[in-house]
Amino acid sequence: MFKVTGILFVACLLLLAGCATAPHDDGELPPPVWTATNVVAKPPVPHVPAGGKTNLPPVVRSNPPPAKIFRPAPMLTWTSLNRWAAEQKLAAPRKLANSPVTAYAISSKNGVLVLEIGSRDVTWNGLVLHFGFAPEIIDDQIFIYGLDLQKNLEPLLLGEPPAAGGNRVIVIDPGHGGVNVGTHSVLDGRFEKEFTLDWARRIKPLLETNGWRVLLTRTNDSEMSLSNRVAFAEAHRADLFISLHFNSAAPDKKQAGLETYCLTPTGMPSTLTRNYADLWSDNYPNNDFDAGNLQLALRLQAALLRATGEEDRGVRRARFMGVLHGQHRPSVLIEGGYLSNPREAERIESAAFRQKLAEAVANALR
Ligand SMILES: [Zn+2]
Repeated sequence: MFKVTGILFVACLLLLAGCATAPHDDGELPPPVWTATNVVAKPPVPHVPAGGKTNLPPVVRSNPPPAKIFRPAPMLTWTSLNRWAAEQKLAAPRKLANSPVTAYAISSKNGVLVLEIGSRDVTWNGLVLHFGFAPEIIDDQIFIYGLDLQKNLEPLLLGEPPAAGGNRVIVIDPGHGGVNVGTHSVLDGRFEKEFTLDWARRIKPLLETNGWRVLLTRTNDSEMSLSNRVAFAEAHRADLFISLHFNSAAPDKKQAGLETYCLTPTGMPSTLTRNYADLWSDNYPNNDFDAGNLQLALRLQAALLRATGEEDRGVRRARFMGVLHGQHRPSVLIEGGYLSNPREAERIESAAFRQKLAEAVANALR
């Protein structure tokens, strides 16, 4: 029923827009143009940098994410960055002279965002993240897709620092447990579930010292479903949720670095799809917290990189992570390094390094 209605809706939109290019192979990208002021309407054409690490979703396979609530994506418009900056009383973006590509910086009291024309890769105060769509030059002006303005530029350049919730309850979720062992160390086969639990146990007293009430989804080697982890945060009315993991690129032993994930905003392509269908029109309860998710992810990623000196693999967006999309609070998932990389595995296996990771999380939430 929904499917048929959705297809008709999209077909009508495409006809009305006179658009020959289907926006995405899922055929479900819906959205009305919300404003015609100061904007150039243009269908989103996602840009994949040649040889870039951005992972766009070409195929639809099995294992779709669980139930979703459908709401139309909010915007399908492109806006002049200069005009937007002027409206926000920000200085005009300035071209970076020494860049090998066409790069621009735009600043506010919160920090500096650097973007490249034709690339989804951007940096925020030096941290790597990704736009949904590559900025373009149209008539000598920088144009930004509306969703990137709403979901990236506005929270970063104009957003206030995340306010602590009234009761400051945080749920820390050590990934995996029981028969769900996670990945394993390339050095000796020790399991991810052991290291995530230890990391969480180290975080708890540090955050408690800073005034948080801290709850762990598991305190021993027990199995717990993703939906029960979400229900746990719900039952305790948590203000924040952080899921802890370690990564693997096995058999590749070179891949290294830290990543922090949050849910992809509705209407955007993800940066990681892991062979799941990445349906841009999906809207989850946690999408109400897109801005808070991004701010939390960036604070954590910055603190973790500072503490460890590891490679920045960026704040990334995914929509298949079942532990995130049902959350009614800012929620992120940290990948604290690669157990498939011998050098990183050695660090992760050391208690001193896990203490560093724990202190970084606590420092990010001061
Ligand atoms: Zn994991």
